[in-house]
Amino acid sequence: MSPARNLRAYDKNSKAPGIKNIAGWHAKMGGPDMADATVIDGKAFSETLVQQIAREAQTIADAIGRPPALAVVLVGEDPASAVYVRNKIERTTKAGMRSIEHRLPPTTDQETLLALIAEMNADDEIDGILVQLPLPDQIDEDSVINAIAPEKDVDGFHVVNAGLLATGQESLVPCTPYGCLLLLRDHLGSLSGLNAVVVGRSNIVGKPMAQLLLRESCTVTIAHSRTKDLPEVCARADILVAAVGRPEMITGDYVKPGATVIDVGINRVAAPERGEGKFRLTGDVDYTSAAEKAGAITPVPGGVGPMTIACLLRNTAVAAARRFGVSIGDI
Ligand code: NAP
Repeated sequence: MSPARNLRAYDKNSKAPGIKNIAGWHAKMGGPDMADATVIDGKAFSETLVQQIAREAQTIADAIGRPPALAVVLVGEDPASAVYVRNKIERTTKAGMRSIEHRLPPTTDQETLLALIAEMNADDEIDGILVQLPLPDQIDEDSVINAIAPEKDVDGFHVVNAGLLATGQESLVPCTPYGCLLLLRDHLGSLSGLNAVVVGRSNIVGKPMAQLLLRESCTVTIAHSRTKDLPEVCARADILVAAVGRPEMITGDYVKPGATVIDVGINRVAAPERGEGKFRLTGDVDYTSAAEKAGAITPVPGGVGPMTIACLLRNTAVAAARRFGVSIGDI
């Protein structure tokens, strides 16, 4: 069994909250003699973060007379999107915030969706707006994202928020890269001067991740499908972030000894060993070979994934606090 899939089975070698020691786990399980890679436990970290966010949400509720409120819009019936939305709603409520849900049929036209967004923009009782992507083909995603009021854009995808981030100004930052940054800061402390390579240049992960690492004074390289000698480029990285969408593409050959590896990927791959038609989740990193070289690594599941929802809750609380001028702690 791969270490990634059996993470919950051990917790004895924890060095610090959110961190586990993979060598200790292998010794216990009689596995291979691996390098002393630390497993960065995003699930544990996110649970502590959500508790902090819940406290700040209460502070906001005391100040403005209601909890921070997140509106989530789901267009269509994509099963994966429906699961994501259900999780977001559950976690929002658990953190003491209000959740508002809009489910629209797959035939919804762009005008109808834009009208709903305009209504929510004008509603003072809504602090955050999230439109679940992808949208059906008849709707232009950029037009929808850029119709959301930037101060309520808790996904941080609006062109104004992207521009504010790129110019080092206060913004709402995309949740997944922000979650990666929190894990990196927790594990490494200062990131200043480190070589960071981000594989992937999407607007929702790769580009904002690179901006955040630059803001931390890393020397940043963004790699993509046209990058030459990708393994060699990656092997120079002290911090390697994989956001490629290709199952287990980043093997140990891409990893500098001792590097910190952040696996953003979430891929569903066939798992016939679990039965006919069964799937398992895997990252963009080949966990076993990468963990042999890395100093620290995030597993899939249980690494970056739980941080994304936690950072959505964080952004909702931050959006509410900024809109009403409430002072809250650093979350
Ligand atoms: P995306 O929009 O498909 O972008 C993928 C990027 O990877 C592109 O920039 C692409 O380069 C690059 N790429 C593709 N094949 C490559 C190759 N062979 N060599 C080098 N670069 C290559 O994906 P995304 O939305 O950023 O998501 C990336 C991964 O993160 C996916 O696995 C996704 O499921 C996962 N994800 C996870 C979370 C979470 O909560 N953990 C959130 C969002 C996404 P080009 O630009 O040149 O095409």
